[in-house]
Amino acid sequence: MRIVVALGGNALLRRGETLSAAAQQAAVGDAARSFACVAAMGHQLVITHGNGPQVGLLALQSLAGPVESAMPLDILGAESEGWIGYSIELALRNALPADTTVVTLLTQTLVDGSDDAFSRPAKPIGPVYDEATAKKLAAANHWSIAPDSKGWRRVVASPEPQGILEIAVIRQLAESGTIVICAGGGGIPVQRMSDGTLAGAEAVIDKDKTSALLARQLGADLFIMLTDVAGVYLHYGTENARMIRHTSPRELATEGASFGAGSMAPKIEAACAFVRETGRSAAIGALGDLADIIIGTKGTTIAGE
Ligand code: ADP
Ligand code: MG
Repeated sequence: MRIVVALGGNALLRRGETLSAAAQQAAVGDAARSFACVAAMGHQLVITHGNGPQVGLLALQSLAGPVESAMPLDILGAESEGWIGYSIELALRNALPADTTVVTLLTQTLVDGSDDAFSRPAKPIGPVYDEATAKKLAAANHWSIAPDSKGWRRVVASPEPQGILEIAVIRQLAESGTIVICAGGGGIPVQRMSDGTLAGAEAVIDKDKTSALLARQLGADLFIMLTDVAGVYLHYGTENARMIRHTSPRELATEGASFGAGSMAPKIEAACAFVRETGRSAAIGALGDLADIIIGTKGTTIAGE
């Protein structure tokens, strides 16, 4: 099978841990061992990943230099693809037989410069601050900020992905048996200008949405989003919480309210978009359960109409 797997932030950094090179490599090592099992089963793997904490950290580091050296989000997104892609690639090389080919591909995702999302920044990046610190940083750096579950975070525009510039080469690599790490952080956001040229966009795209688009365009047999919960729960966070094992886009549409905006809701949207368009299955589950999710014994599988 050709499988597109999107790695959540927790695969790169366990929730609550400080972002350090050592902590990240330990988390990525766990992910790589899961992938190695799947590759050994003979499946074609295309791996995508998030970049929220990393791109936020790069933005802060970029503020340390002269004002004019602060880099826009497209460049920081490219940096984060290199950084995280390299970490995943290194861990995969350590977990896989020596003759496996692995490549990290800088990926650009086309967005529409007139997307409403540019006037409604909503995607949290970087660390969580207390309210006073967040407001001070926002005033000093012209950030938008918004409350997050445990405090306040910087928020940036997150437009809809319209296309993946490197799709043809990703397909070729996957077909040749290469494990491809691509579309990190949803891809580097670029927009088509009125003169036909491309330019970077000040945004961070949702990685689940770009991954769904990638999975559709690659004709993936299965699209999996790995995160830090065993699957999708009804009544999540209450004592009546119950994990859904199998469901369909139609059934999920009636449950919309119980899925966290900005966390589980975008995964469900991405899964349903893939399933509706391809008639194939999507799944959501925990990083360590990858092999069982593929055979359908763990996680939440979304299929049918
Ligand atoms: P990722 O980095 O993997 O994208 P997110 O934090 O965006 O992680 O999404 C996973 C989180 O979604 C879980 O840790 C959980 O707290 C939250 N969540 C919200 N609603 C639900 C739900 N109905 N079922 C399961 N998890 C949910
Ligand atoms: Mg997420």
